[in-house]
Amino acid sequence: AVGDKITCDMLDQLSLRSYPLCMQTLHNHIKVKHHAKHEGRMQYGLFLKGMGVSLEESLKYWRTQFCKGGIDTEKFDKTYAYNVRHNYGKEGKRADYSPFSCLKIISSSEPKGDECHGCPYKHSDELSLRHLLEKRKISAEATEEILGLKRQGHYQVACMSLFKATHPKEGLHGGLQHPNQYFEESQTILSG
Ligand code: SF4
Repeated sequence: AVGDKITCDMLDQLSLRSYPLCMQTLHNHIKVKHHAKHEGRMQYGLFLKGMGVSLEESLKYWRTQFCKGGIDTEKFDKTYAYNVRHNYGKEGKRADYSPFSCLKIISSSEPKGDECHGCPYKHSDELSLRHLLEKRKISAEATEEILGLKRQGHYQVACMSLFKATHPKEGLHGGLQHPNQYFEESQTILSG
């Protein structure tokens, strides 16, 4: 799998072109604030697992970020490491939790305050979405197409349009169901 050798110092680079907007937004939020609320940690943490990032690398990623935000290692290990291990099925019922699908993310609760989970096509207002798209340096035409699809409630189709606008070949055949699908198809195209 693509993720077998993914270490946490590669995530910045990978997030630039191969993450869908939902995960890029979370990644950048954590990079700046060095924190994320529970829902966001679940959404991004399970995505990382889905990419094939090992439990050890995930723990390193979250520990590094949270410690930069002023949480000491001891508190991290007591409070947050449990959740990371839990996501990997190493705590609690030892269930193997699946990364969230688009449908689950789109229908998640409205992010409030400092929360950063959800699907930007659904949960961001038009202006914020426009700002996110500007950072991806796509054409004005592609931007308007995506905003139009958002208005009509076609969130996954909007996400596929961004994929098309940022990859040399068309991808995502058969529709988009999952953020990890977006990532994998992007990596296949960009490294192929
Ligand atoms: Fe993420 Fe799916 Fe929304 Fe794209 S459509 S941003 S992959 S939840």
